[in-house]
Amino acid sequence: MNHTKAYSAASATSLLASTTIPRRDPTERDVQIEILFCGICHSDLHQVRNEWSTIMPTVYPIVPGHEIVGRVTKVGSAVTKHKPGDLVGVGCLVDSDHTCPHCQANRENLCPNQTLTFNSPDKHKTAPVTYGGYSNSIVVDEHFVLRVPTNLNLAGVAPLLCAGITTYSPLRRWGVTKGKKVGIAGLGGLGHMGVKISHALGAHTVVFTTSSKKKEDALRLGADEVVISRNSDEMKKHAGSFDFILDTIAAGHDVNAYLNLLAHDSTLVIVGAPEKPMSVSAFSLLMGRRNLAGSIIGGIAETQEMLDFCGKHNITADVEIIPTQKVNEAYERLVKSDVKYRFCIDMASLKA
Ligand code: NAP
Ligand code: ZN
Repeated sequence: MNHTKAYSAASATSLLASTTIPRRDPTERDVQIEILFCGICHSDLHQVRNEWSTIMPTVYPIVPGHEIVGRVTKVGSAVTKHKPGDLVGVGCLVDSDHTCPHCQANRENLCPNQTLTFNSPDKHKTAPVTYGGYSNSIVVDEHFVLRVPTNLNLAGVAPLLCAGITTYSPLRRWGVTKGKKVGIAGLGGLGHMGVKISHALGAHTVVFTTSSKKKEDALRLGADEVVISRNSDEMKKHAGSFDFILDTIAAGHDVNAYLNLLAHDSTLVIVGAPEKPMSVSAFSLLMGRRNLAGSIIGGIAETQEMLDFCGKHNITADVEIIPTQKVNEAYERLVKSDVKYRFCIDMASLKA
């Protein structure tokens, strides 16, 4: 057993603080990684504050973080994919049952027995639950360790492991391509990746934001148009016109306002995970025979495909790099949608 420094919260109302956590010795299938950067996803904040208590109650202490990049320090005897010195990534999943129909079809994100990177029961019993990437090292089954393209900035790669795949997967699954009109609702961590990927896929990309201050940025990130979602006249101009809308909004909002912008038979996919249920009017769906769906991260092979796509198109997240000691401040800013566009922790700061 090894021990490593980490940043954890002791309760839903505690600030995150420095601590020490156990990590297992690598088994024959494991890869041990020195973590260099870890992105801050809004899901980290939801779970630190136990906002998803009815779906996945938080076990404390919690060490969040599932947008991990680092360097391999050790591998088990049966590991073939990675070797010491390699730059690698780990996203939201660190294990699954490997046998269910979803795992067999490379959809580990749908496996009913998956192990999330943090706040999942720890099969190895190193601790009651898994501990995430706000730490200096992690040990992960090689199947869940991704190759990182060498041409990309490492801090900007970290958020691809969650924000990147969570937007790439539905954009691909629902056939976003040149000639399609695509809406991205919410310009935060997920939203700004959605814009970059939708643009790279060649779609006409429209950003919906509550903030007029983000307009210039949205255009720079690849949007063709920007709509201020609080302006109902601006919204109405797009009624019935979208082939696809990706909803990345982290708080409660009126989904009907976006459903009404879909063309007939088109789909709105929710990836944002607000704390409270939202109401949907039947008429928003039946008029125009519209579809409402959800999506959760992506499979491991698809995550590798996304990383390779980003390598080819030179896509990384726009990051504000912070030391670990600024995590609590970053959380306060995340709640206010004041992030351009992903906080990324330089994990070397935890060693100091
Ligand atoms: P984020 O960086 O905080 O971005 C969320 C954006 O939502 C904000 O920047 C803001 O955009 C918009 N927003 C926030 N409050 C709003 C409100 N009251 N009304 C309207 N818009 C509002 O969060 P994130 O990390 O991108 O995560 C977004 C959501 O996706 C979270 O709920 C997270 O838990 C979830 N998530 C889901 C998956 C999945 O697999 N499905 C994966 C990762 C994250 P504007 O300022 O542009 O209005
Ligand atoms: Zn995430």
